[in-house]
Amino acid sequence: MTGQSTTHFGFSEVPLNEKVHKVRQIFDSVAGNYDLMNDLMSLGVHRLWKRFAIRRLRLKPGQRLLDVAGGTGDLARLMQRELSGQGDIVIYDINAAMLEQGRNRLSDEGSLTGIRWVQGNAEQLPFPDHAFHAVTIGFGIRNVTQIDAALREMTRVLRPGGQFMCLEFSHVAIPFLRPIYEAYSFRVLPEIGHWVAKDRDAYQYLVESIRRFPDQEQFAAMLREAGLYQVRHHNLTGGIAAVHIGVKV
Ligand code: SAM
Repeated sequence: MTGQSTTHFGFSEVPLNEKVHKVRQIFDSVAGNYDLMNDLMSLGVHRLWKRFAIRRLRLKPGQRLLDVAGGTGDLARLMQRELSGQGDIVIYDINAAMLEQGRNRLSDEGSLTGIRWVQGNAEQLPFPDHAFHAVTIGFGIRNVTQIDAALREMTRVLRPGGQFMCLEFSHVAIPFLRPIYEAYSFRVLPEIGHWVAKDRDAYQYLVESIRRFPDQEQFAAMLREAGLYQVRHHNLTGGIAAVHIGVKV
């Protein structure tokens, strides 16, 4: 991405330094309805995807974990269970409203043990090299302007032998599912966004940004480029989403 003056924001091109502000506006707008919208849009399936993704990591009590673009903390809550209350989890996100929403939810549930919140951009992580046993990012990397920089940073802060996991929308691998998913995405999702979150544009951006995101193989190549090894992926619900895992050596 270096040397470019514009980047994509959904199907539009915007100056490189504007995307981060536009993404921030979107999550400021949807933060209050974010969890409800996820359940409505996916009929709760995002919970199964997240559980599957965290289980793939085989986490152990005592580990230090980082969830980048952690938002309202869905992945961190699952990690917390795997650690059985022993270990440290950092939820890192650029958006104060999303972090606040998640902190309130975890506080209401009485599940604050071992969790810290840090606000910042995934492109520059304020953590030392080799700090974490695992680094995750769920439905976040698509929103980052300089994806390659963020992948390098997440690899940098992993310990040797540590695991990187990315859960993200991907490209449907089952031909008959494609037109159904296409119609649902472009006709239904923005309407749900309009009626529930009162922000059609945010959900139009969601759909468009998914289409612009690299497919499973292209993204795997980006992970290798960032310095990860043993890169593999698992398609979820026919490739609507995919989990990519890689190891730092
Ligand atoms: N990981 C959570 C989940 O799976 O529910 C939240 C995902 S939400 C779709 C995307 C999150 O990425 C938002 O909370 C947003 O603030 C965050 N985000 C977007 N750009 C970011 C960046 N450059 N650095 C860090 N976080 C970012």
